[in-house]
Amino acid sequence: TPTVGVLAVQGDVREHRTALEAAGVRTVAVRRPDELAAVDGLVLPGGESTTIDKLTRVFGLRDPLRSRIAEGLPVYGSCAGMILLADRLLDGHPQQQTLGGLDITVRRNAFGRQVDSHETDLEVAGVADGPVRAVFIRAPWVEQAGPDVEVLASIEAKGESRPVVVRQGHLLATSFHPEVTGDHRVHALFVEMVRRAA
Ligand code: GLN
Repeated sequence: TPTVGVLAVQGDVREHRTALEAAGVRTVAVRRPDELAAVDGLVLPGGESTTIDKLTRVFGLRDPLRSRIAEGLPVYGSCAGMILLADRLLDGHPQQQTLGGLDITVRRNAFGRQVDSHETDLEVAGVADGPVRAVFIRAPWVEQAGPDVEVLASIEAKGESRPVVVRQGHLLATSFHPEVTGDHRVHALFVEMVRRAA
């Protein structure tokens, strides 16, 4: 059975562990480099990307995370986690850095104040048996994606189609929070990527 870590410096760690365990893997909270070294996959949870960025550096995790991503560790980023995986960031805090790995430009808090939080049913390529309930909370969207990025779902916002689920090789990201719905199919999609990589 693979072990999937959840980065546990800030954010909704418990919900991701529950969803991953329902999808059939062992989970562990990752706060130290030696914990990161022992996982077969990693989830970067939702939360506040500026805080997660700061704390990963304080905990000495930034360089180990970047190395493992570069080496092909399967990683799934949800919301703030999507921001962390993006190579390029718009509307970030001036001091904010991302880990990178995904050839995307992400716009932070993209949906704006009036639609801070919203939910919709969304068909996701690679997820069978109907739409998933997508819960967006101060969510980013993908503003631009490189040629190797697969767009698995988009929504219409501000007059354009905005990618909200993307995959590039071993990296998966969603703008929304599947871990809060009790539907574990997006986590199951990620667990498949972890099993294939193992
Ligand atoms: N707006 C948050 C950020 O910029 C992300 C929100 C979330 O993860 N739900 O990090």
